Amino acid sequence: NLTQKLTQTFKNLRGQGRLSEDNIRDALRDVRLALLEADVALPVVKDFIQNVREQAMGEAVVKSLTPGQVFVKIVHDELVQLMGARNDRLDLSARPPAVILLAGLQGSGKTTTSAKLALWLKDKEKKRVLMVSTDVYRPAAMEQLAHLGKDIAVDVFPSGTDQQPVRIAQDAVAAAQRGVYDVLIVDTAGRLHVDGEMMAEAQALTAATQPVELLFVVDAMTGQDAVNTAKAFNDALPLTGVILTKADGDARGGAALSVRAVTGKPIKFIGIGEKIRKGLEPFYPDRMASRILGMGDIVSLVEQVQQDVDEEQARKMTDKLRSGKGFDLEDFRAQLRQLERMGGMASIMDKLPGMGELPAEAQNAMQDGRPMRRLEAIINSMTPGERRHPDIIKASRRRRIAAGSGTTVTEVNRLLKQFEQMQKMFKKMGKGGRGLSRLLGMN
Ligand code: GDP
Ligand code: MG
Repeated sequence: NLTQKLTQTFKNLRGQGRLSEDNIRDALRDVRLALLEADVALPVVKDFIQNVREQAMGEAVVKSLTPGQVFVKIVHDELVQLMGARNDRLDLSARPPAVILLAGLQGSGKTTTSAKLALWLKDKEKKRVLMVSTDVYRPAAMEQLAHLGKDIAVDVFPSGTDQQPVRIAQDAVAAAQRGVYDVLIVDTAGRLHVDGEMMAEAQALTAATQPVELLFVVDAMTGQDAVNTAKAFNDALPLTGVILTKADGDARGGAALSVRAVTGKPIKFIGIGEKIRKGLEPFYPDRMASRILGMGDIVSLVEQVQQDVDEEQARKMTDKLRSGKGFDLEDFRAQLRQLERMGGMASIMDKLPGMGELPAEAQNAMQDGRPMRRLEAIINSMTPGERRHPDIIKASRRRRIAAGSGTTVTEVNRLLKQFEQMQKMFKKMGKGGRGLSRLLGMN
């Protein structure tokens, strides 16, 4: 599948810090080929590749991920975006009966889907549903709907092949009104190919029934043809959405991408089997994206890792402190900032083992939250060299730092003393283990 392929493509790129034009070139080619193989229309593929390239350029690759994983996540998110990001529900907020009209080629699954939809509305939405077939060309089609209705205990408006489709639909609307149905589902006749007569009839039915949902039903297995058909129906009819049938047979999902991109209409449901009871589900772009990529966990893995990066920084600090070496005033300042975010030293003092052993002066200084900002100001006024090697800060430097930070030499002295004490404390706690992690708000 595509994920495996991309992972393979990226295999040699381990350890690269960023995605770049160079290192994603082969991967983009893989994605392009995969989409074309999945019957996604060429203009759609071109746009898509362009978007992914823009998203990927300069994207940082954190250490615990591979470039391939980061790239897969970007492709996934773009796929979701292309398919509409969220599930669009049916809009049934009309004066009852809300009419749902299904249009599409013969064999696309309109009649089957009518029954699936009726059952879904009845069970999940507690609607009273009436169905009607306007397929006057095939007696079997009308019987098929009548049978399905009986199966799922949904009423079917009786119609015959000797009537006009528009007349049948009008009668059904009137019957739905009289019978106080919430929803009327109108199943229409298709043709094997797009033709003018079929479109004219669908337009007439639309005008006569004023559907709140005019859904284009399309067979996912028909690949590129699905795109052309979708375009023709979308041009001729004010579609409100799409139902993609036989998605159970098409593991590639290419039609979902193209149909959405070409019509701009949301896919509201997918058909996932012949069975009426289990054959329909709301369409979720993120699930389809995962399916197209053939992957399960990569996306959540990447999200998890990106979240962990902050924690990793904290952990690095702990290691540094624990080793008792290299704790400098830069680190001290970072700690001050973190402590400020955590609500001040006082709030965590009592949780710290070994705190009682510190000299009273140091304890008091740390308990007091107020000077935190002044401490930070003092450190800010130091040169990087001074922060790294506090022992070089002699009298004249102390005067300069005090002046620069708007504090006094006494305060600078006190800070340096505190820093020294902290250094010692950290060393001590580092040997003991747990205390330091707790100080840093980690487990
Ligand atoms: P219509 O001509 O558009 O009314 O199409 P039908 O509803 O009669 O369906 C044509 C065929 O497709 C039937 O054999 C259905 O059982 C089958 N079918 C419809 N939807 C699905 C689906 O989601 N998955 C599968 N596997 N078959 C489906
Ligand atoms: Mg039919």
